Amino acid sequence: MESNDIEHISTGIILREAIRNGTPTGTLAREYIENSRLVPGPVVRKLAESAIAAAGFDRFVLDGYPRTIEQAEWLTEFLIEHRTSLQAVVSLCVPDDVIVNRLSKRRVNMETGENYHLDFKPPPEDVDPSLVYQREDDRPESIVKRLAVYREETHPVEDYYRVRNLLLEVDGLGAFDAVHDRIVEAVRIFVSSAE
Ligand code: AMP
Repeated sequence: MESNDIEHISTGIILREAIRNGTPTGTLAREYIENSRLVPGPVVRKLAESAIAAAGFDRFVLDGYPRTIEQAEWLTEFLIEHRTSLQAVVSLCVPDDVIVNRLSKRRVNMETGENYHLDFKPPPEDVDPSLVYQREDDRPESIVKRLAVYREETHPVEDYYRVRNLLLEVDGLGAFDAVHDRIVEAVRIFVSSAE
């Protein structure tokens, strides 16, 4: 979700940047990402911690974090320490076959980080094709592994937030803009009804 005054914090994007820059974190993370595994908690925690602090503990969207119960528990404590908390947790509901299609046809712009989809949002003609690449972890065999990791490690996080009345399940089917607008509207209603 993008909005001018809301910080988008994606641990995946931060990790890919670290890999591109050849930092020690990037070198370590590459091994896990290329094997479709989660990067160890303490490594990702540090990244989340500094990104949330840089956002001033306010008006941020976490994308891809937390991905385990351990990360969710740490996040709760960390936010309490800084006198804040999450207002809503969005779970996008999409069947596996659609996920496989979306990921296997996803392409990324190396320079801008922008995502494309070969059918629904192909790279524009004025973008140099040599800058457009497929993520290593978007290859078919990696996707199958990532879905298994999701079921095992990330799916339980939904319950963690469901019992805390923070989980907002949103239909993730449809065009990019339609899903975006659906999320924004669902969060708006959820947050205003909680106030
Ligand atoms: P994403 O761009 O969110 O799909 O993340 C790409 C990859 O980065 C994941 O498949 C993981 O290997 C790693 N990663 C991103 N966020 C996390 C996280 N919260 N915990 C562990 N690994 C992560």
